[in-house]
Amino acid sequence: MKDFLKSIPHNFKQAEQAVLAKALAFSEKAHQGQKRKSGEDYLIHPIGAAIILGQIFPDTPTLAATLLHDVPEDTGIPLEKIEKEFGGEVAQLIDGVTHLGHVRFKDSKDKFYVENLRKMFIATSQDIRVILIKLADRLHNMRTIEFIPPDKQAKVARETLEIYAPIAGRLGIGAWKDELEDLSFRIVYPKEYQKTKEMLEAELDSRDKSIKEMQKKLSHILRTEGIKYLEITGRVKRLYSLFNKLKKYDNDIKKIYDIIALRVITKSTADCYSILGIIHKHFQPMPSRIKDFIATPKPNGYQSIHTTVFDKDGSIFEIQLRTDLMHEEAERGIAAHWFYTEEGKEDSSRPVHAPWFKELQAWQEETTNPEEYLESLKIDFFRDRIFVFTPKGDIKDLPVGASVIDFAFAVHSELGYFMMGAKINGKMAKITDVLEQGDVIEIIKSKKPATISHDWLKAAKTGGARNKIRHYLNEHEKGIIQRVKELKLKDLSLPQFFRKK
Ligand code: MN
Repeated sequence: MKDFLKSIPHNFKQAEQAVLAKALAFSEKAHQGQKRKSGEDYLIHPIGAAIILGQIFPDTPTLAATLLHDVPEDTGIPLEKIEKEFGGEVAQLIDGVTHLGHVRFKDSKDKFYVENLRKMFIATSQDIRVILIKLADRLHNMRTIEFIPPDKQAKVARETLEIYAPIAGRLGIGAWKDELEDLSFRIVYPKEYQKTKEMLEAELDSRDKSIKEMQKKLSHILRTEGIKYLEITGRVKRLYSLFNKLKKYDNDIKKIYDIIALRVITKSTADCYSILGIIHKHFQPMPSRIKDFIATPKPNGYQSIHTTVFDKDGSIFEIQLRTDLMHEEAERGIAAHWFYTEEGKEDSSRPVHAPWFKELQAWQEETTNPEEYLESLKIDFFRDRIFVFTPKGDIKDLPVGASVIDFAFAVHSELGYFMMGAKINGKMAKITDVLEQGDVIEIIKSKKPATISHDWLKAAKTGGARNKIRHYLNEHEKGIIQRVKELKLKDLSLPQFFRKK
């Protein structure tokens, strides 16, 4: 218990310590005799998850629930017993986590799928803390993933990369997103991971000296200009984020300027702008690379100023400027806001600026009716994907901007080729209509193949649908031309569309 408390940077009150001690003892007794795949006592896992969570969100009921999160599922001790001992709040959090554990996101034929998805969203809409526990749970499992069989590793890692890391990112919890990504990147794309790692290490070796020199220069300049700052650190780009960026830049690491960035942590926002001016006075900036995420935060609330400058010898550095609060929020995201709001410590220097935060709050207030669950899916967790449903509840995930046409071809080619109309959420719709998060789409089939036009191509966003439409158009064109030839008709008799060619 002492070690547990020591590993969480927070001063718990006596009463809070008592709750945590009780939860720890309860969990220990419940999991007695159970082992992890590593051979260690099972208790290591709930404690590990609670320590992870405690770093960003040291809230006592949430930590108690984390310590107990696997009890109902793995020990047969009913939730009612936990509720009796720890109260409804802790029990509800655990219940939410248990439901979330059942959610399968992709390729699932499970009939409980939508039911569980609904539970997930209802649970989370009632309490975002459930997601925080689940993310901490997953992060601990990812840290210890080497002990489970390789095929299971791949499955867990893929789910982490596709679902959990983006959720952490969406909630602004940079520290968790980065770690979840890199831990699963190694397993899902082992070759690419290795290659990216080698490239990064070579780059770090060659730049280590110049970065240290730049750091010295910068601190000297700021001292002589009389500007106070808290610290200057070097931050190295994470592997998965480097891997994705390399794909956009022909795998040429020299084209990526923010592999190593210098980060200046300041006391105030005003200092960020003063330091930006001083940096630009001493170093030539790259004009298109000054990004002010303080004036315009990223959608997940991220705030900083980024600038890229040339040193005298032509070497290029990215420098990031942010206050200590902005830094903390970049690491802790929604947890930072929530905690300070809960504690009543929120002050005016800590504005709740993140658009998603307001969105989530509104969402929580609105979603009290379980029947509105599909509506609640409209929360933009996944920035560039949408989840939509067949009338039977099967889920399809499509890129943002996808239309009914993409959906039909994603379900089945034949459905696309024989489509004559569609209903979105029970209402008649055009097949070129763009889909939104959570839509339920019913495709109306005709007995005859559809007349596919070039408009279909315009409205299709997915490669799958576009290929099939192109195939049809090519074949169709060939067929008409063939028939025209057979009938020995004059070119003029061709429809105008074909005449142009
Ligand atoms: Mn667990």
